[in-house]
Amino acid sequence: MHKESKRGKSVQVKHRAKDISLFLIDLVFPNRCPVCNGFLAYNELICGSCIENLPYITKPYCEKCGKHECVCKKQNVHYDSCFSFVYYAGIVRNAIMNLKLNGGLHFAEYFARKAATLLEEKGIKDAIDIVTFVPMTRKKQGERGYNQAREFAKFVSENAHLPKPVPLLEKTDNTLAQHSLSARDRKSRAEKAYALRSDTPDLSGKTVLLCDDVITTGSTLNSCSRVLKDNGVHKVVCLAIANTRHQKSEN
Ligand SMILES: [Zn+2]
Ligand SMILES: [Zn+2]
Repeated sequence: MHKESKRGKSVQVKHRAKDISLFLIDLVFPNRCPVCNGFLAYNELICGSCIENLPYITKPYCEKCGKHECVCKKQNVHYDSCFSFVYYAGIVRNAIMNLKLNGGLHFAEYFARKAATLLEEKGIKDAIDIVTFVPMTRKKQGERGYNQAREFAKFVSENAHLPKPVPLLEKTDNTLAQHSLSARDRKSRAEKAYALRSDTPDLSGKTVLLCDDVITTGSTLNSCSRVLKDNGVHKVVCLAIANTRHQKSEN
């Protein structure tokens, strides 16, 4: 109990300090909406009009594979549940591009808050032992300076009061960009592309939250989940910001 209230206070102080620093930064670099690039108040993440107009994912969808047209029977799905918030279409594409290339992290922070609520509502939060993320190749991360999936995972941990993200996986194959491949090539390449890092903690019996920015076919999350399961993980919960709407459009 005592520990809880102390933690609550330190979180409050941290938030206040963050608020002040955001205000000061805003004086020099005005805060902008990561979706439409319009001006924002210093403490806003996305503008009101974009919040209204985002293409939110509608129900029903399969809570295991995360797709409207369930693929669980057609393929071996190695994760146990999968959640995302918006369709990867229209204005979301710009925002994701901004997140990937220009450090537009507000978009990830906004959905991390949603994710914290969702994990709580679904009764999943308390079961999560480890938070991790889909890795990028060392080369790509070096060029970009950050991994947007890791940044999303950090915001999720912070907002859901979960342990800090731990890198568990590494990406080994970097010869071709995913989107230039057919679905079948993408699947086989994804299967070989991820491996467990040598410095991972003991994963046996653990429930892992695996974060990514966008789900296209789901083959990346599936491949990462298979590696985790092969190494003793009990359950994998996948979480992404955006998901493609139709299976067909991915082929
Ligand atoms: Zn906007
Ligand atoms: Zn399914």
